Amino acid sequence: MKIIVLPGDGIGPETMAATVDVLEAASRRFDLGLELVHDVAGHDSLKLHGATVTNALLEKVKAADGLMLGPMATYDFKDESKGEINPSKYFRKCLDLYANIRPARTYNGMPARLGEFDLVVVRENTEGFYSDRNIESGSSEMLITPDVAISLRRITRSCCERIARSAFELARTRSKHVTIVHKANVLRIADGMFIDICHEVGRDFPDVKIDDFIVDAMMAHVVRAPQRFDVIVTTNMFGDILSDLTAELSGSLGLGGSLNAGDQYAMGQAAHGSAPDIAGQNIANPFSLVLSAAMLLNWYGQKNDKTPFMIAAKGIFDGVAAAIDAQEATRDVGGKLGTRETGEALATRLSTV
Ligand code: NAD
Repeated sequence: MKIIVLPGDGIGPETMAATVDVLEAASRRFDLGLELVHDVAGHDSLKLHGATVTNALLEKVKAADGLMLGPMATYDFKDESKGEINPSKYFRKCLDLYANIRPARTYNGMPARLGEFDLVVVRENTEGFYSDRNIESGSSEMLITPDVAISLRRITRSCCERIARSAFELARTRSKHVTIVHKANVLRIADGMFIDICHEVGRDFPDVKIDDFIVDAMMAHVVRAPQRFDVIVTTNMFGDILSDLTAELSGSLGLGGSLNAGDQYAMGQAAHGSAPDIAGQNIANPFSLVLSAAMLLNWYGQKNDKTPFMIAAKGIFDGVAAAIDAQEATRDVGGKLGTRETGEALATRLSTV
């Protein structure tokens, strides 16, 4: 399996280096023959190539089997005409990575403030409030006068159908419960359509229980009793916000692993950003990116019917859980190690299981 590795900005180089240690250990231990091809995106690419991402890089990614994208300083990238393209948007749009899968669970060895839980947010990734991916070129966000701005939100039947199907298929492998999160009391047409289509798709999965919550109330429900949820399906922005909350409720945003998957390509990418407040200090939690890498291996194993990749992914998931329990982790999750040492300890753990 060939994986393009793009460290990204802020804490990206530190967390990606630790992730590479873990991937290399997993490759040796499970005989995966991983080929990690290092390249750049974000600020490094802007300096080197005059753009945060390039067509040449996209072609390399298309020719590979997977992509690991580090966190990006997306807020810095304001003007596409100066090469400041949001790399997350670029890959999600160009590779049609419509399903953003963001699991959140509690771990032994850390206080579960809200009790134990294990859920997954399935977030639509290619339209919604994220206006830079709603139209073929340009942005569907406009300045009408200096004092009037408009951002258009797009919701389409095809995107609703495919994200709903992803959620129901995932629920079948878990506790068979899908919760639809929406704002159909206000966005009656667009979110009304989203709910209707989720229910339509749900008819093909009669064994899966369905319920739904309005997004604002959902925030209260998920804080009150996160264990009542299994798979949560929602539109782009609601999913982005909700999944940061669920990651933090699980113990830390630094546990927010995530996979961006389409029918052909997939990209592992932590749920969080480039965390400039802690960059360069060897304290960022690398597990979010490590878990994202494990999700990428699992996706590849399932897609190509290659069991060792699924076994390796499980080995990494279990290894992260054991490391947290043993406090071989960063401070945000109760450990005492730095970013680098956390990666090395997990790599050693994988080599010896
Ligand atoms: P952030 O997600 O980077 O950080 C939020 C908080 O969580 C900070 O206190 C940070 O220190 C902490 N945190 C994040 N990751 C952590 C980790 N692995 N370990 C321990 N603590 C961690 O959000 P922000 O500071 O608002 O954004 C910084 C930059 O990241 C901005 O340019 C933003 O646009 C961008 N961003 C990018 C992505 C992405 O690449 N997918 C996602 C969100 C934000």
